[in-house]
Amino acid sequence: MRSLSVLLALAVGGVTAPLAPVAAQTAAAPPTVIRAARMLDVVAGRLVTNATVVVEGGRITAVNPATAPKNGRVVDLGDVTLLPGFIDLHTHLSSEISAGAFTRAVTSTEADAALGAAANGLKTIMAGFTTVRDFGGDATVALGHAVERGTLVAPRVIPARESIGITGGHCDVTGFAPGVREQRPEDGVGDGPWAVTRAVRYQIKHGAQVIKICATAGVLSLEGPVGAQQLSDEELQAIVTEASRHGIRVAAHAHGNAGIKAAVRAGVTTIEHGSELDDEAIALMKQRGTYLVPTTYLVDRINLAVLPPLVRSKAETILPIARESLRKAIAAGVKVAFGTDAGVYPHGENAREFALYVKFGMTPLAALRAATVTATEALGRTDRGVIEAGKLADLVAVPGDPLQDITATERPTWVMLGGRVVKGADPR
Ligand SMILES: [Zn+2]
Repeated sequence: MRSLSVLLALAVGGVTAPLAPVAAQTAAAPPTVIRAARMLDVVAGRLVTNATVVVEGGRITAVNPATAPKNGRVVDLGDVTLLPGFIDLHTHLSSEISAGAFTRAVTSTEADAALGAAANGLKTIMAGFTTVRDFGGDATVALGHAVERGTLVAPRVIPARESIGITGGHCDVTGFAPGVREQRPEDGVGDGPWAVTRAVRYQIKHGAQVIKICATAGVLSLEGPVGAQQLSDEELQAIVTEASRHGIRVAAHAHGNAGIKAAVRAGVTTIEHGSELDDEAIALMKQRGTYLVPTTYLVDRINLAVLPPLVRSKAETILPIARESLRKAIAAGVKVAFGTDAGVYPHGENAREFALYVKFGMTPLAALRAATVTATEALGRTDRGVIEAGKLADLVAVPGDPLQDITATERPTWVMLGGRVVKGADPR
């Protein structure tokens, strides 16, 4: 296991520090006592100085106890701020955009995707992200299994398996002759309520813990007007109804107003991108408690030069509008949950999203909440996102004070996943 991690570390250019050995923690192992100059209480919104966090069996067992356990192994992180591990609600770990991306559907295999996901997952956790909600097929369902088994170092994965949409839409494979890679409901493409219901059931059967849909047309696909609604109102309702029966939430890719509103009315939990939010869409999202997952860093970072002309012109149309939408949504108090569309820009740069939320109107605290407590809420979970007894021991340390300088999140020095140090100093 260790040698595989080291091999991956060597294979990944951006990782400078070698991976710390991963010490498997069991309930019987001694507790780990983490000390840090500062810790952020994301709920109360204040920094706690001279923090002590006790971790045992993969979970946080105490925060600033009167006496630390005598048999504990101590890791003193010094002059850093300890934060809950970051959560990115929109990643594509099994792919990364390149000139070849538009023919990948006919040139690469699920095995290629899986090996890519392992390497990209390592970059992502080194950037401080301990949970991702990922839209990446069987490859990232399998990555999630490997992380749970402890055989790969990567974030915990909440996978969608295949995204669901209409024939010829953003979630289909487009741009090829008839007969080439035609998609079925099992692959996420269907027309009519029963076909998309089958698509939902099949994704859940094979590991989906969230359903991702294409409510509207998109940028990175070879189909028509970028904002147009694609799934019909009936199809959207069928998807949400079926997913809800399984206790599973729906994430809707949606750029244009009509599709955004239709998806919100159907009861999706998150709107991904939300590029063209008008006042009515904003009011509807607030009323229904729908989260916006902005994916805004990619606007600065997307490599337009590698895109086919149709796709490039769609990107140039929609991306500037999306930024105005985000500014309006933040000002109006729409719930914003952190998500980046990693894979559209190079993996591992996820934290660059934080500073943009601040630039477009959030306080640094609100931006940090978006990637911790708010993201956890959007996932429908209660087991992470805060540093508190009983929660998963997923932690990240950053230099300085991120409430003063949000870009500190871009320079994590230490990362723990489930009580295992995966970056930086080990306990002794
Ligand atoms: Zn995406």
